[in-house]
Amino acid sequence: MSQWLLICPHCDHRFGHVKITDAAVQEAYRDSHGTDAKPDLGEKKLTCPYCQMESLYGRFHLICELDSDKAKGKGV
Ligand SMILES: [Zn+2]
Repeated sequence: MSQWLLICPHCDHRFGHVKITDAAVQEAYRDSHGTDAKPDLGEKKLTCPYCQMESLYGRFHLICELDSDKAKGKGV
């Protein structure tokens, strides 16, 4: 399953998995930057499940993790 991840600025753990729809993945392939396919979170305060620190996350914090070999590493 492809998903969006957030990286905690405090401990560098990845969390906050948001599933990517197939349509969004297709958009990401079309747009080499992948930016337009990102879901719009707005600005969200999320608590890291690892270090329990609360941070404000925006759309630009999202990292794309696609569930296919040819796309591994995209967006990292
Ligand atoms: Zn953390």
